[in-house]
Amino acid sequence: MWETGAFEPRIAGDWLFGRGAADMKAGAAANLHALDALRRLGLQPAGTVYIQSVVEEESTGNGALMTHLRGYKADAVLIPEPEDEMLVRANTGVVWFQVEVAGLPAHVREMATGTNAIDATYRIIQSLRQLEEAWNARKDEHAFFDETPHPINLNIGKIEGGDWASSVPCWCRIDCRIAIYPGTDASVAAAEIRDHVAAFARHDPYLSNNPPTVTFNGFRAEGYVLDPGSAAEAVLAEAHEAAVGAPLKSFTTPGYLDTRVYALYDRVPALCYGPVSRNIHGFDECVSLSSVQRITGAMALFIAEWCGTETIA
Ligand SMILES: [Zn+2]
Repeated sequence: MWETGAFEPRIAGDWLFGRGAADMKAGAAANLHALDALRRLGLQPAGTVYIQSVVEEESTGNGALMTHLRGYKADAVLIPEPEDEMLVRANTGVVWFQVEVAGLPAHVREMATGTNAIDATYRIIQSLRQLEEAWNARKDEHAFFDETPHPINLNIGKIEGGDWASSVPCWCRIDCRIAIYPGTDASVAAAEIRDHVAAFARHDPYLSNNPPTVTFNGFRAEGYVLDPGSAAEAVLAEAHEAAVGAPLKSFTTPGYLDTRVYALYDRVPALCYGPVSRNIHGFDECVSLSSVQRITGAMALFIAEWCGTETIA
């Protein structure tokens, strides 16, 4: 579905195409080249800079969590995720879960005697959509979410079920992702999901006798808010203005970010700021090369101001 191969990098004008071009190989390159830029001026940071390259930002956050558990500490963190040259003010946490329904197999000629697990799952999905809307209705209770139209997205990312067109399906499983507001404990949200599915099942003619199972199988992560006014943000704003020529804007993103590890567990200013991109996670993902250069420049200036510099001996 890509114009050219997902793993065959291609440059067209200002855009570099390829899987991960923006999310997040551009940022990984910027991390290194911000330091290289200082070195080319004969300078190095006067404070320790840790370059961290981690796994599983897309599924658990365990890579970033491991850096915390291993005891790496700093006074601020900067993650150049593709954020269109803006700073993330707040994000949502994410909970992954699976719902599995067991049905009763039967030949389709006796369809009434069997119970279609796919149909039953479909009913559960509709009920989960109601939970999704109930959570979205709470958005004005959360700082920095008033301008985000639909921060809580329930994604039914995967569905499997049934074995044969002429057999009533006796099993169905869905893999789901839902967002949670910063300040919401992921375990509390998980319990609410479990209770919601159980309550729906109790009123369903079939599911009441065959309750579905809910399993939490991946992300279980809280969101964070970057409180305005931190020294780190002020330094980044100055660096951004110098490198880009415009004031730094901030926004709320309804998605997961590893910055949460540093904001919630290291309790340091966690800055998520990176290049302009298109179609991350989609077809023909690409990143603006001029934007990568701008944010790398801003990052070099940020490091120089935050850590100070010294001349390379
Ligand atoms: Zn991603």
